[in-house]
Amino acid sequence: MAEAALRERPVTSRQIKVGDVPIGGGAQVAVQSMTNTMTYDVEATVQQVYDLNAAGADLVRISVNGSKALKGFREVVWRSPVPLIADIHFDYRMALGAADAGAACVRINPGNVGSDDRYRRVIEKCQETGTAMRIGVNSGSVEKRFWDLPKAEALVASALHKVEIAEEMDFFDFKVSLKASHVPEMVEANKKFREYSDAPLHLGVTEAGTKLPGAIKSAAALGQLLPYGIGDTIRISLAEDPVEEIPVAYHILSALDLRHRGPNVIACPSCARTLGFDVIGMAAKVEEGLKPFEDHFTVAVMGCVVNGPGEARDADYGVAGGKDDGVIFSKGQPLRKVGRDEIYDALFEEIAKDDRK
Ligand code: SF4
Repeated sequence: MAEAALRERPVTSRQIKVGDVPIGGGAQVAVQSMTNTMTYDVEATVQQVYDLNAAGADLVRISVNGSKALKGFREVVWRSPVPLIADIHFDYRMALGAADAGAACVRINPGNVGSDDRYRRVIEKCQETGTAMRIGVNSGSVEKRFWDLPKAEALVASALHKVEIAEEMDFFDFKVSLKASHVPEMVEANKKFREYSDAPLHLGVTEAGTKLPGAIKSAAALGQLLPYGIGDTIRISLAEDPVEEIPVAYHILSALDLRHRGPNVIACPSCARTLGFDVIGMAAKVEEGLKPFEDHFTVAVMGCVVNGPGEARDADYGVAGGKDDGVIFSKGQPLRKVGRDEIYDALFEEIAKDDRK
């Protein structure tokens, strides 16, 4: 199978590096998530970083929410297979410590660390240690003086003020995030910000919720931004095991043709024409069976031979159910007719034959 084509998108941001991961300036959209272990529990945190990386995370964020966590972070940094972002809450001294400890990036919400002088101290430290920064602004932490503005504008004004301080100090190694849990507000803020700054953007719908609604909100937001060059790294925030966030991120990127990881399964919704062939069960089984594959190709599970192969003619492989049998096809052309019980095995045999994977 030929390499899946990726969609070109406008380059609207300058590039920075978080560790060895390029962010912005035309680089592929980086996927990140965040650990939810206690950072002082080094073994559990390292394990989760490895799990996230195995699932496809390019970057992992870890909360450094006190001196005990900072001690743990120092150890995790040296054992991590990916660059780590230290997440700082209110205590700017944790940012200083995390940068010294080898964080590739510190994420601070300047509105939460107190005076601009503290924010400047963190910038100076990042300049000294070569650490990148994420300037995070969210609707809950907009400074008081911007409260009268409409919400999206308040987010942008707040972020731009912090960007200005950083740039006045000749510090450009930062990305910005403008987060809200309301999708239209988050989208508007990011679009507006891009009119004023070429800083790379980290995108995410904050407090998106549990898996299904969270994934949908994230897709609805990112789908309005990423294809237009707005957004350079993403996190899908779910009330879930963080490892579950990574496939959601890749499904969104893949649906937008921006980045692929693993095969794409398409399936018809089924109707009376299936004549009893279990499309839903087969689609789930095929999806599961394809999990070990890292290459991108499309497999279709269709309920009938009347419409299936034709409707799924772009699929690299497919099955179409019949009354007692099924047809394995490729690009709309039949390859084999097999008994219903042999469909799954026959499909994977055909996939295995393709030595281009
Ligand atoms: S492919 Fe066949 S079974 Fe599936 S929805 Fe279409 S007509 Fe119905």
